[in-house]
Amino acid sequence: MADLFEVQSCDKCRNPAIHHQVYSGRMMCGSHLADSVRKKVTKALREQLTVPKNSDFTILVAISGGKDSAVLLERIHERLGKRRDITIVGGCVDEGIEGYRPPSLECARQLCESLGVRFETVSYPELGFKEMDEVVGKIIESGDKKTPCSYCGVFRRQGINHLADRVGADVIALGHNLDDMAQTIMMNMQNGDLERTLRLAPHTSTPLEGMAPRIVPLRWVPEQEIHLYALHKKLPIHHEECPHGEGALRFRHRETIAMMEADVPGTRHGLLRMADDVKKLHADSEIKRLSTPISCPGCGQMCSGKLCKACEMKALME
Ligand code: SF4
Ligand SMILES: [Zn+2]
Ligand SMILES: [Zn+2]
Repeated sequence: MADLFEVQSCDKCRNPAIHHQVYSGRMMCGSHLADSVRKKVTKALREQLTVPKNSDFTILVAISGGKDSAVLLERIHERLGKRRDITIVGGCVDEGIEGYRPPSLECARQLCESLGVRFETVSYPELGFKEMDEVVGKIIESGDKKTPCSYCGVFRRQGINHLADRVGADVIALGHNLDDMAQTIMMNMQNGDLERTLRLAPHTSTPLEGMAPRIVPLRWVPEQEIHLYALHKKLPIHHEECPHGEGALRFRHRETIAMMEADVPGTRHGLLRMADDVKKLHADSEIKRLSTPISCPGCGQMCSGKLCKACEMKALME
């Protein structure tokens, strides 16, 4: 009689499976899951990253202390860390969130130390923004309808650009996973925001003016698999969520995408392929750009409006 609690075994070896990859039908043990993650990231890196010959090349890996960026840095370091012409820097933005940022910053620092990667940080006050804890206080006080994350997301982008300038980055690697990408694409669709879909990373074949191109090597790997990989590799990661994240629209999108994926496995891949096709169609079309970026009069960064979003939001906090 079959044991009710029989553990299924890995498709590729006899070890017990720790993961059922529903969209492919595979059962996987820890090391075969790790293999699959490695393969996907390597392939994406090959597609997204072109390192010119005979010149020094710097990659800024945006890290947060969380699992995604930890896996990203570990993979990039493993693949490219030995190359003499490539410098890898781990950069962390300190938003000023008590109880959350200090321990996660520590994880990020530890990871860099253990890999022998240079570590850089920049804080919101250093960038001229208020710390997030203070921003949240102001939001509550003034009855602002915007969520903390709508400020934080914009400020953090400035922070990453700042770090990229500081280290002279040729490319910025971001830890967005498959779920993140699918959520973003859904949000853009919901807002009818084609322009943002066109500006989605990776920027390998669609570079944006005045900005170091972003690559997203984890974009085909589901969040859950990244988590399992991080545990399998025993990477130092911070597990807590930011206390100001609640109520962010992204969390509802997370639920929606999870539900759609459960109903129709492969939904996330489909959304991503769709966005890629739209980008490709646009790149091949006659209409080359929807709007020409200008240099922000407030801070000099390239933006699409009169004033960049960061300067706009900074002014709201004055
Ligand atoms: S959850 Fe929101 S407020 Fe917290 S770090 Fe992320 S973007 Fe910032
Ligand atoms: Zn196996
Ligand atoms: Zn600006």
